[in-house]
Amino acid sequence: MPKWLFLVGIFLCNFLFAQSNDVRRIAEELCSPKYNGRGYVNKGDSLASVYIQHEFDKMGLKKKKRTYFQSFFHDVNTFPGAMQLVSGTDTLVPGIDYLVDPSCPSFNGTLKPARISYKMAMNQEQLQNELVVLLKGKVYNAIVLDYRNCPNDTLKQLAGLTQTLAGVLPVFEWTDKKLTWSVSSEQLKYPLIQVHDASKFSENQQLSVHIEAKLLRNYESRNVFGYLPATKKSKKTVIVSAHYDHLGRMGAAIYFPGGNDNASGTATLIEMAKQLKGLDRKVNYLFIAFAGEEAGLVGSKYYVEHPIIPLSKTRFVLNLDIMGSGEEGITVVNATLFPKEMETLQKINVREQLLTQIKPRGPAANSDHYWFTQAGVPAFFVYTMGPNKNYHDIFDTYSNLSFQETNDLLKLLLEFVRTIEE
Ligand SMILES: [Zn+2]
Repeated sequence: MPKWLFLVGIFLCNFLFAQSNDVRRIAEELCSPKYNGRGYVNKGDSLASVYIQHEFDKMGLKKKKRTYFQSFFHDVNTFPGAMQLVSGTDTLVPGIDYLVDPSCPSFNGTLKPARISYKMAMNQEQLQNELVVLLKGKVYNAIVLDYRNCPNDTLKQLAGLTQTLAGVLPVFEWTDKKLTWSVSSEQLKYPLIQVHDASKFSENQQLSVHIEAKLLRNYESRNVFGYLPATKKSKKTVIVSAHYDHLGRMGAAIYFPGGNDNASGTATLIEMAKQLKGLDRKVNYLFIAFAGEEAGLVGSKYYVEHPIIPLSKTRFVLNLDIMGSGEEGITVVNATLFPKEMETLQKINVREQLLTQIKPRGPAANSDHYWFTQAGVPAFFVYTMGPNKNYHDIFDTYSNLSFQETNDLLKLLLEFVRTIEE
């Protein structure tokens, strides 16, 4: 091999290494405990917004409408302190043995639940009669709905039942399914706790429960902007977005790091901005790190209602959410709405031999692209697929991310947005 070719090889290797290294560095930072899972306890999301703004600033992205931030206000239920569930003499582990429902209120006391099978729960009349009898006896002051071994279609029919019952008395939902958490903007009247079959939970034991919940009203969250104007003036803008918020804390002891969802996407967004900064651009780029996604796409809804660049001049939105794997390719939501753009993406992938597959999917309200689609702005939502199935749980950590396809993904997405410029 000629020496110059060897040197080019080293240069390329270093360049690719640096790209994925930067993505890793930023994702690791966002997953660290100081951001409290980028939720609402200790203002975790706000702390992360400052860090992201700093990254935008460091690479020379501009403010837009004189600011890097767009504030909005929303109600959110939080768990800042005590989180204890003791079954007999066994202290259960939060996040592994149980999750409190995101709408769970504060509670401190002992519970003796009566067991209700999922079969009984299917019959509303029988369930009601049973509840009256159970609670009349004054032996029980809560119920445990036993959903173990419940077929999936039955579970679907029973959806929402535990929430309804938690309006009347404390409820435990006993499950053998994966525990998956989320965020709520309200509180139930009584506690609702999902306990896993693999834990030492027993309905025959006295249960000691201590939960500290706080419903924050009009909590301030912030979308973060980084603006990169076209090299020569242009009226058209491409938005690249990723939400940086996650689920935050469930008690003082544990937090949800949100590695794949969506420290990975936020880090990819920042790296894309950095690379586009070094190129000639025919359109303006607006990078938006959205807040409040996990609370119900609140930040992106606010943006679409209060855009800082007219939606009519927004040529395309590329939304990144769950970007940490890719061993099994990516899925593109809205692919069926924009077949021309989808074909372009497929062509780049084949030509450059990047990912194993690009799977088309129809529209779905599952990330921040949704409100843009509703408003008639063309948008794709891209997520990676791979063996990492940790999702909305405490195992979605930085160390569980493979970043195996990061460089190929960056190449694909950068080339794709460049074709939108034409
Ligand atoms: Zn997400």
